[in-house]
Amino acid sequence: MWDDVKNLVQRKKDWVTKYGMPNLARIHPDLELKISPQARRMALRLDNKRRIMYLVVPTRTRTDKAYGFALQYQDWIKENMSSLPAPVPLEHGNIIPVFGKKVRIKINYDPNLKRTSILLRNNVIHVSTNKEDPSRRIERFLRNLALEKIEKIALRKAACIDVEIKSVNVRDTKSRWGSCNHEGEISYSWRLIFAPRQAMDYVIAHEVAHLTHFDHSPEFWALCCRLSASYRKGREWMDKCGHTLWRFGQKEE
Ligand SMILES: [Zn+2]
Repeated sequence: MWDDVKNLVQRKKDWVTKYGMPNLARIHPDLELKISPQARRMALRLDNKRRIMYLVVPTRTRTDKAYGFALQYQDWIKENMSSLPAPVPLEHGNIIPVFGKKVRIKINYDPNLKRTSILLRNNVIHVSTNKEDPSRRIERFLRNLALEKIEKIALRKAACIDVEIKSVNVRDTKSRWGSCNHEGEISYSWRLIFAPRQAMDYVIAHEVAHLTHFDHSPEFWALCCRLSASYRKGREWMDKCGHTLWRFGQKEE
């Protein structure tokens, strides 16, 4: 993994040394260069999780060509970037979905308080805090909440099919919603807390099913279906809307 990243960085350095850096920021502030030996032609690729538009260029493309290509699509880039869902920071008054319910964040700031306490009650997250920006604390609260719920559901599903889970974790993964290994350790993205219930249930079932089938065979999907009745709907939602889960907790630029 790290070798891949190092290679990528080196490749970009070599390219820039040879051809010079195109000033992509002049076209759009979120436009970034990606040198790809596999690419046959130039392309624009939107990473809607990171909110970055990549200009993918084959290794032997000259700077002026790359710049010219991006410039040609400037309007298209702008349009796509501005159509991304707006970030929803964890701030007072904002509404976020928690396990399929709309929940409002209510922050009571008092510099004299000794510590921060957070409580979810009646669809309101009550935050009493001495911090001017308690968003990290709120995130941690949500992470713990996500872990508690996801772990419970995963264990229940595993018991249904008589497999053993060694541990359940939550992380802030960028590329996958869940992962597991042969030891029975499962990880999920804590951001599943923002997903509708059936979507979260499907992702949990997906990893639990992998403890029996380490592939995506028809048998695997049949087991998914057993573990999560509406897994088709959940899967569809994750495919179509999964990227929107990243907007919560992101700061506005
Ligand atoms: Zn899978």
